[in-house]
Amino acid sequence: MNSNNSNSIESVLQEQRVFPPSDNFSSKSRISSFSKYLEMSEMAKSDPNKFWGDAAREELHWFKSFNKVLDWSNPPFAKWFDGGKTNISFNCLDRHLNSSTADKVALIWEGEPGDKKKYTYKQLHKEVCKAANALKSIGIGKGDLVALYMPMVPEAAIAMLACARIGAPHSVVFGGFSSEALRDRLINGEAKAIITADGGFRKDKVIPLKDAVDQALGGGACPKVESVLVVQRTKKNIAMDDGRDYWWHEIVDSQADDCLPEQMDSEDCLFVLYTSGSTGKPKGVVHSTAGYNLWSHLTFKWIFDIRENDVYWCTADVGWITGHSYIVYGPLSNGATTVMYEGVPRPSNPGAFWDVIQKHKISIFYTAPTAIRAFMKAGNKIPNQYDLSSLRLLGTVGEPINPEAWIWYRDVIGGGRCPIVDTWWQTETGGVMISPLPGATPTKPGSATFPLPGIEADVVNSDGDSVANNEGGYLVVKRPWPGMMRNVYGDEKRFRESYWEYLKPSDNSYMYFAGDGARRDEDGYFWVMGRVDDVINVSGHRLGTMEIESALVSHELISEAAVVGRPDDLKGESIVAFVTLRTGAEANENIEAQLKKHVVNEIGPIAKPDEFKFTDSLPKTRSGKIMRRILRALASGDEISGDTSTLEDRSVLDKLRS
Ligand code: ATP
Ligand code: MG
Repeated sequence: MNSNNSNSIESVLQEQRVFPPSDNFSSKSRISSFSKYLEMSEMAKSDPNKFWGDAAREELHWFKSFNKVLDWSNPPFAKWFDGGKTNISFNCLDRHLNSSTADKVALIWEGEPGDKKKYTYKQLHKEVCKAANALKSIGIGKGDLVALYMPMVPEAAIAMLACARIGAPHSVVFGGFSSEALRDRLINGEAKAIITADGGFRKDKVIPLKDAVDQALGGGACPKVESVLVVQRTKKNIAMDDGRDYWWHEIVDSQADDCLPEQMDSEDCLFVLYTSGSTGKPKGVVHSTAGYNLWSHLTFKWIFDIRENDVYWCTADVGWITGHSYIVYGPLSNGATTVMYEGVPRPSNPGAFWDVIQKHKISIFYTAPTAIRAFMKAGNKIPNQYDLSSLRLLGTVGEPINPEAWIWYRDVIGGGRCPIVDTWWQTETGGVMISPLPGATPTKPGSATFPLPGIEADVVNSDGDSVANNEGGYLVVKRPWPGMMRNVYGDEKRFRESYWEYLKPSDNSYMYFAGDGARRDEDGYFWVMGRVDDVINVSGHRLGTMEIESALVSHELISEAAVVGRPDDLKGESIVAFVTLRTGAEANENIEAQLKKHVVNEIGPIAKPDEFKFTDSLPKTRSGKIMRRILRALASGDEISGDTSTLEDRSVLDKLRS
């Protein structure tokens, strides 16, 4: 945090609207009332070992049962379900084959050019087995790390499941990353093989993935990498290295379509995944087999209240944790139908998402605030041209959602009838931690509402003591949960220091600290206020970024805003606001005065920005999160230091500089 001794964050925004779930929705849902939610939470709290143990036995298949639910004798290193043996690929595929789910569609895929594929559970199982056998044939086995650098094609999910099947941890590197970012991650993770494609389609262009792999491996930079498996997607000409590179269709298609799953220890590593890098150098987050399987499975079931006929679509990329937990593992473990789409909205097809919803009759739609704000900027005209009546539930993840964007999402996309689940979580948490349960929780726009059963979240000061209602502080989790990260790959020190030793509770207990600031209101609702690194200190008042930004976004001309502090001799810091106007709106001299007045009305004079910068776009990570640390440097005229490899579009910086 910063130099100020008082460590609370002041909350200034008051959002009063409340949306209870409709009777119609609640009556059909799994957790159908708030009292049921409270009951589950109470059960989990009073006897966590029973709660998690029962859940693990009921929800997962075990080759061998575990003998201990949680071993927390060596904190912060947890062991869950020790002694048990299971396999997540078995839980996602094989166990559905003895029921009618075998012939249910598991995966619907659509490519950006419009090509389509569907796989039933039975078919997906065969494809995964073939890929697993192919990996074995090139010398990959249990414990070998396999990097994936893939477009959004079915083979990405198939490859993940195939790795899991043979016990080879995967490390998915987002296909939009550069060859240098890929190389860093290959070296850090000591990958033995890479699965990639000749390219992928994105915004009507071909992304040359294999060329980037060749560059990353060039000059012997990654001596541990022995083989590269290449999916043919674009038919673009690429170089193939004899002896190192293999075409997927040449070595996978001819394999036997059955492959016994490796019986994995509960704590065997399932995957390593790097964080988005919003706040600094990405961390290689390590997740293990059984705990992650249980947590992605349970959270998916609770939060999306999945029903037999749902067609569920999460727009994330498989390169992010959201893609891991809520495109692949959570949905498939539950026997649901999951949709994967290669494209994104683009000038040639701005309604691409709505088209996918209409075409595939999507009933549950899960996306990010950055996308919602972009749609809001462009206006209602495009979504209004599509039939979105199949939707019954909406979700958001990735950043705090500004209440105005929440309302827009509810009204324009959800037709006013769909509950919204605003899900707070992180790469490190494996699955959602704080979220409404759609049939049970009255929602408030901009609040992720309550911790899920079994999650003991709190808001504390730097001594680890709970702060009063409506006072901001550090968002922490006080008790281990199955999906928690197990380590930072190859950097135990960073694991301890960033997550478990940052706060110093007087009783020396371990609290997981996430990097985010939050407050709890008088009804117990959690409001994430932004990253604690981004807190602005104005005349001794410590303000989170989320509330000022939300006040700006609630102005009719503004679609997106990011605020940062700039050192100021008098006030400590002054507030600089970077804002994006809605399409068609124009910046004039008046607008600054209007916006200042608007913030004063919404929040008060303390939060009034001192300076505005109007821009077409804000610097974001490739997963779509605003990178305020870059804006902070720009606003202060400092050099941009620290890791910028995860920046989505460098030209945004040049534009902002000029
Ligand atoms: P790095 O840790 O490298 O800076 P990152 O934190 O952006 O990257 P992720 O794990 O992808 O990497 O993102 C988790 C973060 O996203 C959370 O800590 C939080 O700041 C933000 N976030 C996710 N969902 C929500 C939400 N529903 N409301 C508020 N913030 C959210
Ligand atoms: Mg983070």
